[in-house]
Amino acid sequence: MKLILLGAPGAGKGTQAEILCKELNIPTISTGNILRAAIKNGTPTGLKAKSFMDAGQLVPDEVIIGVITERLAEPDCRNGYILDGVPRTIAQAEALEQAGIVFDAVVSIEISDETITERMSGRRVCEGCGASYHVVAVPPKQEGVCDKCGAKLIRRKDDEPETVKARLAVYHKETEPLKDFYAQRGLLKSVENQPTVAETSQVILRALGR
Ligand code: AMP
Repeated sequence: MKLILLGAPGAGKGTQAEILCKELNIPTISTGNILRAAIKNGTPTGLKAKSFMDAGQLVPDEVIIGVITERLAEPDCRNGYILDGVPRTIAQAEALEQAGIVFDAVVSIEISDETITERMSGRRVCEGCGASYHVVAVPPKQEGVCDKCGAKLIRRKDDEPETVKARLAVYHKETEPLKDFYAQRGLLKSVENQPTVAETSQVILRALGR
């Protein structure tokens, strides 16, 4: 199964992708996680991406298209994947289409800007493996420590309130039009964010006919 998760930053795409990849037994590909790893490792891609990410702006399409094309060519993607945070622009969606990729479904998680702003202030991510947590909704077993790899949990620089505002504006302008793009192709499944992570997973799985 080839799946795209759409939704504003902080909609819970990363958290849901982690659950879905276990349920569906396919990897999650997050361009955000790939870029953060590239920055940490000081690669040329990381150097190109950093200033855009810190400002809450999109990394240029040609960088993203290069990153995602390379990643999807790896053997673990053979049986399908869940895309988290990509495509984020019409140009990226067109590039995937031109590469001959046919998706089974595009799930858009719907949530208000207000709920997102509240939620982002509590978000923490693992410095080591990129797993995401929330101080209230998805707390780690031990405060500040990743359950999966034991590395430190940090607040992302782009989760600061001013940057969140910028990222939401970018989402509405650049990414939201993808809903129409995929609706026209009969692939869009919109689901409402639910009070708990588990309930949101359930509505997503139901929308996928599982
Ligand atoms: P995320 O972890 O998906 O919220 O991504 C964090 C940041 O990485 C975004 O705010 C962008 O600056 C950059 N980024 C990740 N994926 C993309 C993409 N598909 N297109 C452009 N920028 C991206």
